[in-house]
Amino acid sequence: MKAIFFLLHLTNNGFGGLEHKDSCSLIYSRYGFRDKERYNRFRQLVAHEFFHLWNVKRIRPKALETFDYERENYTTSLWFSEGTTSYYDMVIPLRSRIYDIKTFLKNLSQEITRFLSIPGRKVQPLSESSFDAWIKLYRRDANSDNSQISYYLKGELVSLLLDLLIRERHKNTRSLDDVMRLMWKKFGKDEIGFTPEQLQDAIESIAEIDLSDFFERYIDGLEELPFDKYLEPFGLQLKSILEEDASPYLGIKVQAENGKQIVKFVEADSPAGLAGIDAEDELLAINGIRVSIEQLNERLKDHRVGDIIQVTVFHQDELKTLSVQLASPQPGRYEVVRIENPSEIQKQNLIGWLERV
Ligand SMILES: [Zn+2]
Repeated sequence: MKAIFFLLHLTNNGFGGLEHKDSCSLIYSRYGFRDKERYNRFRQLVAHEFFHLWNVKRIRPKALETFDYERENYTTSLWFSEGTTSYYDMVIPLRSRIYDIKTFLKNLSQEITRFLSIPGRKVQPLSESSFDAWIKLYRRDANSDNSQISYYLKGELVSLLLDLLIRERHKNTRSLDDVMRLMWKKFGKDEIGFTPEQLQDAIESIAEIDLSDFFERYIDGLEELPFDKYLEPFGLQLKSILEEDASPYLGIKVQAENGKQIVKFVEADSPAGLAGIDAEDELLAINGIRVSIEQLNERLKDHRVGDIIQVTVFHQDELKTLSVQLASPQPGRYEVVRIENPSEIQKQNLIGWLERV
C-alpha cells in the first residue's frame, strides 16, 4: 500500500477535513489534544478522512467519476459518500477499542438528539439534500434548520438503520461492511462511477430484500426514521429525556448582538413560529416586562402549557406585540438505552454488532 499523508493544520479553534486521493488535509485546534473527549473527536475525524480513501475517492457516484473542477457536479448519493463515512467514523474507533460500547452509544445518542432537533428533516428529503449540496449546505441562512437536513447527519443515521437491517436479517453474518466490500469490488477498484440504482442494487443484494420501500420512505421521502423498530432486535431502544423542570415550549433561539437580543432561529410550527415571530426580530418583553436572554427560560416557567403570553419584539424596526400560546416542553435529549430483560437473541445480536469485531 502507498504511504498516506495526513496534513495536519493546527489553528486556535478550527475543525474540519478534506479528503484527497492519497492524503488528507485536517484542520484542528492546537489545544485540543489533552481533553479526552476532544481528542477522541479528533481521532474520529482522522477515521473519517481515512475511510474516504475508499468511499468517495475511489468508490464514487457517477457524477463524480471524472472530477470536473470547472462546474457543479450534482448527485443524490452524497448520503452514502458522506453519511455512510460518518457512520463508520463512529464505528471504527469502537472496533479499534478507542471507544467502548458505552461511549459509542453515547455518541450515537448525541447524533440522534441533534437530528431530532432539526425541523428541516420533515421538509427536505435526504436525496434532495445531497443534490442541493452545491447551492444550500454551505450557504446557510436563518431558516436553514427549518428547511434543510444535512446529508452527513441523516445519511449517517440511515446507514445505521441499513446496517441493523442487514445484521438482523442475517444474524450478524452480514452487515454494511459487506456492502462496502461489494461496492469496492464492483466500482471502487476500477474507479467506475455508480448510479443511485446500482447503489440500491448493491445494498439489496447483500440484504437479500427489496428495499424500494425503505428508499422511498427514508431516502427519497420524509418519513421519520423509526429508530426503535431497528434498535429493538438488538435489545436497545430510544428514550426521550425531558428535563425535570423544563419550561413550556416557545421555539426560539436568541443571541446577544451589539447590545440587542436578536432572535436567531424560530422553529417552524412552534408557538413562536405560529404567532409570527421572525428570525432577526429583536426580543424586548414578555407580558409588558423587559426580558433578558438569561431570564427567558425562567420567565417561561412562570406559565403553564396552554397559557397565552404577550411577546413584544421589534420586527424590522416596527414595534409589535404578539400573542403566543405556549406548548408542552420538548425533550432535551434522546438516549439509546438497553431494554430491560433482553432475550437471548437480542443479546447475541448486540454482541455481534458491537462486541465481536
Ligand atoms: Zn467527509
